[in-house]
Amino acid sequence: MTESNPSPIPPAIRWQKVTISKIEKRTSRVSSFFFTPSEPFSFRAGQHVEVRLTAPDGYRAQRAYSIASAPEDSGSIELAIEKLETGEVSPFFHEVAQVGDEIELRGPIGGHFIWEHADGGPVLLVGAGSGVAPLMSMIRHHANQRSSVPMLLLLSSRILEEVIFRDELLALDAKKGAFQLVLAITRETPGREGDFGRRIDTPMIAEILRRLPSSLKRAFICGSNPFVTVASEALTGAGVAPGSIRTERYGQ
Ligand SMILES: Cc1cc2nc3c(=O)[nH]c(=O)nc-3n(C[C@H](O)[C@H](O)[C@H](O)COP(=O)(O)OP(=O)(O)OC[C@H]3O[C@@H](n4cnc5c(N)ncnc54)[C@H](O)[C@@H]3O)c2cc1C
Repeated sequence: MTESNPSPIPPAIRWQKVTISKIEKRTSRVSSFFFTPSEPFSFRAGQHVEVRLTAPDGYRAQRAYSIASAPEDSGSIELAIEKLETGEVSPFFHEVAQVGDEIELRGPIGGHFIWEHADGGPVLLVGAGSGVAPLMSMIRHHANQRSSVPMLLLLSSRILEEVIFRDELLALDAKKGAFQLVLAITRETPGREGDFGRRIDTPMIAEILRRLPSSLKRAFICGSNPFVTVASEALTGAGVAPGSIRTERYGQ
């Protein structure tokens, strides 16, 4: 009689210890936390991880965070975490966590909200707030691959100062290559030509679609629940086929 070994837990759902290697302030409310995995970690642009914190009394809290780093940078996992004053886990990262600390993480998770260079385009990315995180992974992947696939990020923010990854996005846009950045600034007058000074709506999406060199292949929308609902409606209102839209909702 032969006994079969119990099937091993797939790496994506097995918790592993990760160490915070760097913390970088992005805006007044968002910081990037860089983690060094203890086991090999590979992922596709758009996927997320779960982090788990355990208090000395054994109480545990677990939350999902999108991976903002590029799949090509597999030695480090970047999470851009927004501080919610009354939240449980995000204030821990902003007020307590320090470089050298160890936490638990598992992933990558998610098979739907993914873009890889081979998927082609044109691709429209639509985000608000920390919802830019998985889109940033796609944009960095696009840049690392020196992709000629047209990719446009429409990013909504109250003011320019609050745009996460602002300098990196502006620098990529300035290359005038296949990537374009368009900002929808809602509480101040936009300073750049081609940006909008209002919330995302159907006429804005219609105008954005005209800026693409050919018809849209796939759209990715990420942010809070209300934002994703409004942006999805704006896209379908502008004639984008619902089947080509993929969404990631952060809750609330
Ligand atoms: C797939 C996915 C990816 C995500 N990626 C990111 C990311 O990249 N960056 C990011 O910043 N976030 C991301 N999120 C959101 C993240 O998972 C957390 O929800 C977020 O950080 C808030 O967690 P928290 O513990 O700080 O707040 P929580 O403690 O969960 O509280 C959230 C809000 O709910 C309120 N609340 C809590 N309990 C109650 C209650 N009983 N009654 C009324 N109100 C209550 C709090 O006041 C707070 O405003 C993602 C979510 C998903 C699903």
